[in-house]
Amino acid sequence: MKCSFLWKLIRNRIRLASRSRYLACSDCFADQGLHLDAKRLGIESSKDCSQCSSPYGRKLTKQKLLMLAKDYFETGSIRRYKYGFAPAVVFNEYNERTSLNLSPPLSKDTELLCRLLGIGFFHYGPRAWMTGNIKPLKDLQDESTRLTVIRRLFSDYPKKLFQPENVFYRLRKSPSDPTQPSEYDTAPEEKSGTQRLSNAEYPALYASEDITVCIHECRLSAEDEIYVATLVPTRSLNMLDLTALITEKGVTEFDSLDLAIHLLFLAGKHSYPITRDIAKQAAQEGYDGIVYPSYFSLLYHGERSLLTTYGLSHRRIPYFQQIEEKKSASNVVVFGRPIAEKTLEVNCINRLVIGQVTYDYCFGPVDY
Ligand SMILES: [Zn+2]
Repeated sequence: MKCSFLWKLIRNRIRLASRSRYLACSDCFADQGLHLDAKRLGIESSKDCSQCSSPYGRKLTKQKLLMLAKDYFETGSIRRYKYGFAPAVVFNEYNERTSLNLSPPLSKDTELLCRLLGIGFFHYGPRAWMTGNIKPLKDLQDESTRLTVIRRLFSDYPKKLFQPENVFYRLRKSPSDPTQPSEYDTAPEEKSGTQRLSNAEYPALYASEDITVCIHECRLSAEDEIYVATLVPTRSLNMLDLTALITEKGVTEFDSLDLAIHLLFLAGKHSYPITRDIAKQAAQEGYDGIVYPSYFSLLYHGERSLLTTYGLSHRRIPYFQQIEEKKSASNVVVFGRPIAEKTLEVNCINRLVIGQVTYDYCFGPVDY
């Protein structure tokens, strides 16, 4: 008898605790993007919401509401700069008043978020390094100082040796004869174009150790006729490894060569003259090629921004460095026409069929 009373008491406590841990639900939010983000993050529960009484909305704990605020406002307001990117809106618990200029219904939704979490949203002035204000990066953009920085890469970045047991993949969209190994070599001069690390004058073959990186890089779609060649080196290849995270003692973000190279390879086509000069110099230094971080590195790992703690880059904090280094989705470029030159050998050709593509996304505000 005593035992069953105790059990009832415990059960009631658990019920009360679980009811109160849901602070809101997806139906509390009228802005469609915020509502859908809340639905994605929320938990299925038939309990009535303590805010809007809906039994249908997916329920949100304090932790889930914080994730919602971060996804919708911080990630959803990320702006790209020429080099780097940063959110335009952030929040914290020290600013309980929101200083954004929002229109209904988002203004009302935001009031609810602030009240439940004890936070305020405000416009963020990013630290200048996040928007490319890094000395070595500026020196790379200036043709008169570029070569000095490039020379540092050969002393500060490690070499990586690719041996005949290493394998990489090269994708081709609709080659005229997919059975021919020569189809997977560097494009012929008239078709080579101007790319990240090559042009007609300095040709190079692009490949990756990871097939999904190749698919991202080739911007393929389901209707494409795709073939993949498995390539192996015929001798030891001496590669410059720009995917490495280099630790620099006594250097701030503003002087960091590591961050300069990180942002350089996340930038678009305007960065190609710099990266092509790096490739040209590396070839002259006797390297066979470069291992470099893919433009899609962040997307590949489901990340949307540069990770920081109190404005410090995680790449500069020893605790995070190993994790950060592993996030580089690596690409390989081998100089010249390595299949014709017999530096690389095609040891297998397959057809590749894309079965399913999934997208991860969140919403954000338009005006604030
Ligand atoms: Zn609700």
